[in-house]
Amino acid sequence: MLEKDRISYFYDDNLGEDCPVFDNLFEFCQIYAGGTLDAARRLNHKTCDIAINWAGGLHHAKKCEASGFCYINDLVLGILELLKYHARVLYIDIDVHHGDGVEEAFYFIDRVMTVSFHKSGDLFFLGTGDIKDIGEREGKYYAINIPLKDGIDDASFTRLFKTIIAKVVETYLPGAIVLQCGADSLARDRLGCFNLSIEGHAECVKFVKKFNIPLLVTGGGGYTKENVAKCWAVETGVLLDTELPNEIPNNEYIEYFAPDYTLKVPNLNMDNLNSKTYLSSIKVQVMESLRSIQHAPGVQMQEVPPDFYIPDFDEDELDPDERVDLPLFTRYNTAWPLAGSTCHNKHTQDKQIHRDDEYYEGDNDNDHDDGTR
Ligand SMILES: [Zn+2]
Repeated sequence: MLEKDRISYFYDDNLGEDCPVFDNLFEFCQIYAGGTLDAARRLNHKTCDIAINWAGGLHHAKKCEASGFCYINDLVLGILELLKYHARVLYIDIDVHHGDGVEEAFYFIDRVMTVSFHKSGDLFFLGTGDIKDIGEREGKYYAINIPLKDGIDDASFTRLFKTIIAKVVETYLPGAIVLQCGADSLARDRLGCFNLSIEGHAECVKFVKKFNIPLLVTGGGGYTKENVAKCWAVETGVLLDTELPNEIPNNEYIEYFAPDYTLKVPNLNMDNLNSKTYLSSIKVQVMESLRSIQHAPGVQMQEVPPDFYIPDFDEDELDPDERVDLPLFTRYNTAWPLAGSTCHNKHTQDKQIHRDDEYYEGDNDNDHDDGTR
């Protein structure tokens, strides 16, 4: 997609089409986006090595546009938080739809590599995610798209997934991984058209976990809801190294799982339209793209914005003239790549206007005490 088209697409207002407004929409966004942000913060502070937010993974939302049932892109927010502590973040998406919102957010930079496995085709939502879309400018080769056809089964999908992800991790050396586990890639999904069993889907989660790299796992799409619940239950077990019994124990939602009351979602008897030749050509193109990356990109030392912080008071109710001291953490061992000095938030600005004895030219002083500019 041309940059010009990307920008106009970026600002289109899609609210009301497939993104209905409903009661407590803002609170809904706060809960799922806050969950992903908190997950990232916990990984950054090493209070866990794997963080899960099944409510998150709304990968279609753009900075100025809701899209495909996604209002706020919690994944982008979570990755931005991880970038405060990690030089490189790898994003992997196994939802049946293209992870376009995340790809778009990081399309021009090399500090995030996005890898999306999705159904291809112009008529399938969104029609983006062509294998030739590989990123631009500094981000060239740091977006990977694996468009697949209907009916892909466990064996074909997991083989391709493992081959590509192993090479990506070896080449890119990510400091953290974000894994979007959309369950609409399962067989029998109302919108999807792949033929994965829960075991096949969970095999991808198991494979990523084995790298022992800080891991943020989210949900995503999924439109046969009992199968979504089963899938993420099994994958929670995988992430906890716990095998769950196939029989679902009695609970208030048990009737959703009739008639067999088991965790298994078997494959369908459907044709796999992904021929060996097609999958092989996909693999060859991705490997070629990865070979263009000479080595894992480094980062320069810069000031990093403070940690994401939720005040325990309502900022709107504060007296705007009253100063409130908020914690400020400044790190210099990793870089903040995306917005440079413009990313300073309000709290940073509060800190910057502390000095009455220094002359500031414009809004920000470029003369930093540590010599950075
Ligand atoms: Zn989806």
